[in-house]
Amino acid sequence: MSLFNIISDYIVGPCFRNITSNDKTIYLTFDDGPNSYCTPKVLDLLNKHNAKATFFIVGNNIRENMNVFNRILEDGHSIGNHSIDHSTTIFFKGKTALSKWINQGENIIAKYSGGASVGFRPPVGIRTPELRLIMKQKSEKPIMWQHRYYDTKRDFTNEIWIRRFHRIKSGDIILLHDTHKQADVFLASLDSFIQKLNEDGFQLKAISNINPI
Ligand SMILES: [Zn+2]
Repeated sequence: MSLFNIISDYIVGPCFRNITSNDKTIYLTFDDGPNSYCTPKVLDLLNKHNAKATFFIVGNNIRENMNVFNRILEDGHSIGNHSIDHSTTIFFKGKTALSKWINQGENIIAKYSGGASVGFRPPVGIRTPELRLIMKQKSEKPIMWQHRYYDTKRDFTNEIWIRRFHRIKSGDIILLHDTHKQADVFLASLDSFIQKLNEDGFQLKAISNINPI
């Protein structure tokens, strides 16, 4: 673990960045959906490779995209709680408000999926001492990531993932987003990324049964 991660975990508590696995496994995660323009294309691609993933959804997106939400479940992927509305200011409004807000995201997932999410991922990866206390009370750890490619800030191209591919280890959680309006470059690169992972013997699985810890 990097020194930065050691220090941040000391201050804001432990989290999952990888999941110990006996198999050679990678956990792709897609944040900020579901939506009608990109999520179905990501689902098609995952199906093509027989790959499973975890979708950290924004609760308020569910109702307008019920078909897509249901398809995520039917295709055998996991659902994570990425909050009800992707607020970032809530982290500075006290522990009670923060806890209620996390539960709102969890409750809407339970309402429409009939089950619990696999865990919470804070918007923009914000972790605070208050979040640490809430997670501890729930006997949970937030689900973060080992690798990110800033795919909402710049094109996710082959060049970007190939350069850092050697860093990927079994059990790593990878952060991507299913929010690309112009998804062609993203999907083409994701296609070759998944193919390379498979060629290197990695299985792509959905996160399950890690929370409560
Ligand atoms: Zn997000």
